[in-house]
Amino acid sequence: MRFDVVIIGGGSAGSVLAARLSENPDRRVALIEAGLEPTDPDIAQPSMWPFIQGRDYDWAYETVPQGGTAGRVHAWPRGRVVGGSSCLHAMAHVRGHPDDFEAWAEATGTRNWSYDRLLPAFRRSERFSGGGSELHGGDGPLPVWLPGEEVNPVVRAYMEAGLQRGVPSLGDHNGRRLNGTAPNALTIRDGRRVSAADAYLTAAVRARPNLAILTGLLVHRLVLEGDRAAGVAVTRAGVGEIVSGGEIVLCAGAIGSPLLLQRSGIGDPETLRRAGVACRLAVPEVGRNLHDHLLGAGNVYRSSRPVPPTRLQHSESLMYLNAADVTRPDGAPDIVLGCVTGPSVSESFAPIAPGFAYTLLFGVTHPTSRGFLAIGGPELSDRPLIDPAYMRTEHDRLTFRRAFEVAREVGSAPALEGWKADELLPGPGVRTAAEIDAFIAKAAITHHHPVGTCRMGADTGAVVDPGLKLSGLDNLSVVDASVIPTIPSGPVHAAVLAIAETFAAGWTDRP
Ligand SMILES: Cc1cc2nc3c(=O)[nH]c(=O)nc-3n(C[C@H](O)[C@H](O)[C@H](O)COP(=O)(O)OP(=O)(O)OC[C@H]3O[C@@H](n4cnc5c(N)ncnc54)[C@H](O)[C@@H]3O)c2cc1C
Repeated sequence: MRFDVVIIGGGSAGSVLAARLSENPDRRVALIEAGLEPTDPDIAQPSMWPFIQGRDYDWAYETVPQGGTAGRVHAWPRGRVVGGSSCLHAMAHVRGHPDDFEAWAEATGTRNWSYDRLLPAFRRSERFSGGGSELHGGDGPLPVWLPGEEVNPVVRAYMEAGLQRGVPSLGDHNGRRLNGTAPNALTIRDGRRVSAADAYLTAAVRARPNLAILTGLLVHRLVLEGDRAAGVAVTRAGVGEIVSGGEIVLCAGAIGSPLLLQRSGIGDPETLRRAGVACRLAVPEVGRNLHDHLLGAGNVYRSSRPVPPTRLQHSESLMYLNAADVTRPDGAPDIVLGCVTGPSVSESFAPIAPGFAYTLLFGVTHPTSRGFLAIGGPELSDRPLIDPAYMRTEHDRLTFRRAFEVAREVGSAPALEGWKADELLPGPGVRTAAEIDAFIAKAAITHHHPVGTCRMGADTGAVVDPGLKLSGLDNLSVVDASVIPTIPSGPVHAAVLAIAETFAAGWTDRP
């Protein structure tokens, strides 16, 4: 099989690219996805998202034990299905703060990755429920819905509690300001999740004769010929074949993309040697710069009256804050809180029955800890080594403690008095810095935003250049969460779509 463009990974970024690049009927595009089309009806139910992890469409990765979180192994779900991780995610649509993208512009030496230049890409992807504006997309493929009366009463009380502590009122996370209280904008339409594939790979797009969506195909490695990637080696139902392409675009995600490069012999020579893979191209930073948002889940309260079940996706409002001054409206945040309509605890604690409990989540928006990931061997079945180095830096530990303290301040504000019976976790006995740190180490879980493992940059160490082309190969690009050099404040899905939209718009003189 030969195509003009072969896209590896039919997840969030891959869905965007398959749709955009196949708009030209003369371009033959293949989208290769390891998983199948989604069939589980629970995927579409927003409130089911925490419960569908570990099913057969989840890669179900695990980190190595993390010294910064009491030696715990963290489960890292990732979608293995058409739509990828957008079929598992929590549907919160938060672009980030404009300053987050200044860091991208600095890293790449080009304004193309600044917020103002990305804004058309954000807008192109979105269909905002409030209608289009200078800041919001009105007719893009992805519905972005700002809920109103559906927001749970305990979450409303938490937003009011924030205001009582001086936190600015925001209304919407996706304007120019991010600090403040707002309900989450959600990628939900008519009560159902809309994945990136639902949004972009519509029936009309799928009917294009120049687009082939090849599901159930596992990509083992790239087929390298000189300074080109001639194609990809795949297996379908155990049978190997080669899919060739003029251009290869890697969209296998922040875990899948660096692992595939390493299996292909592209990476740090020493890492490859240890895994028994011959080095074809030395790119030492493949797999490095791994970072993620860690989330304290959480500061749990027993409720004095029943908490109604969520009508949305449990965690209905994120609150972004300046750690030194929570009343400050401008600038990028340092910490985030969230309110969950039930008990949210890590595996370190005994489960708490839902119905009479709610949770304040807390976390750090710009962690400085950096880890790495590496293949464990040459085969897809070899377990990768994933080390996000959670809480490795003092900055992260101190900021996390501050986030917890702010959660408690909001949790004790008058607006929540009508709900709060007492604090279940960590409990009133936990007061000193050492006690709080010990609690956080046991309570922290992933916020599910790993990024950075094929970072873009203008420096010689960067894995991809500012045009997202892999240094050292003529026709291979990486376009997914792995190219993010530094994590934005919020959840990263909106940014991943904007990266893919930007890349597609720049696809000019290629086949
Ligand atoms: C549980 C969870 C909750 C989240 N909540 C939110 C949220 O509320 N808001 C938000 O903004 N973000 C959220 N995220 C993060 C967001 O979903 C991801 O950052 C985003 O989807 C990543 O997009 P991607 O294109 O980089 O990768 P993915 O969407 O993961 O796509 C990668 C695709 O490549 C395929 N693939 C990988 N390796 C191979 C191979 N060897 N052969 C063939 N195919 C392969 C995979 O099967 C997958 O379909 C969440 C993620 C998870 C898992």
